Amino acid sequence: MEEKIKNLRFKDLNDKISKATLSAIKSMGFKRMTDIQSEVLPKALNGDDVVATAKTGSGKTLAFLIPSVETVIKALSESKQGTFCIIISPTRELATQTYTVLQDIISHYETITSTLVIGGESRKVQSAELATGTFCIIISPTRELATQTYTVLQDIISHYETITSTLVIGGESRKVQSAELATGVNVVVATPGRLFDHMRTKEFDYRHVNCLVLDEADKIFQYGFEEDLKQIISRLPKNRQTMLFSATLSETTEALIKSAMKDDVKSINTNED
Ligand code: ADP
Ligand code: MG
Repeated sequence: MEEKIKNLRFKDLNDKISKATLSAIKSMGFKRMTDIQSEVLPKALNGDDVVATAKTGSGKTLAFLIPSVETVIKALSESKQGTFCIIISPTRELATQTYTVLQDIISHYETITSTLVIGGESRKVQSAELATGTFCIIISPTRELATQTYTVLQDIISHYETITSTLVIGGESRKVQSAELATGVNVVVATPGRLFDHMRTKEFDYRHVNCLVLDEADKIFQYGFEEDLKQIISRLPKNRQTMLFSATLSETTEALIKSAMKDDVKSINTNED
């Protein structure tokens, strides 16, 4: 067995990533890249299309957020304006997590704008959950505060086997999303269904998008978004960088890679040793 090369430090990428991104990573407390980050970042920062397969928890989020942010910085430095990057996640929860990490990075920049485009909370699902019996209600003023409280609650009740809980919050406003998209927000983190809804309106100008990220691609298909995803991709500019991340690769995903990514796409798999 060959000796494993020690993973690169983020600092070693210093000619390829901006100072503000480096200081954001430093604030997160990370010095060395994870395996998948060391493999993906040099290629993705080079502008290559990338398919990365790596198990959950391996650090895929930064592997696509860092190149996405650098794409935006480059466009802004060329005085361009508009939406440059779209990141698609299969669920509201994953999109929200990604959006949170994105905020951690772009809070180190003054000029980068972003928005979260996710579908509404299902009243039916909430109703079914509430029908199972309740002893305690916690009321928060906003969706965000309620979600934060709920997250801490999960940290506690994950130590119990029997306590159940649910989050009852209002829906995402299409109007608010539409207004944000109309400003030409630089990065959009989205779930497929709602993103496609907005692409069919004239408020959202996606003609400048040159970076597309598909996170948890297999799940996007498993959750039935194949048609939405195809429609989205067919409308986006062809001249773009596409990065696809997944824990596994199904046949459907392989087919998408063939049809939607460049021929010289770089495939990276850290699942097998
Ligand atoms: P994945 O998407 O592959 O499941 P995440 O991107 O969610 O993984 O990252 C998993 C965890 O690892 C997160 O808590 C994240 O903050 C942490 N992490 C990411 N990159 C690094 C790094 N270079 N060093 C240490 N921890 C990291
Ligand atoms: Mg992930």
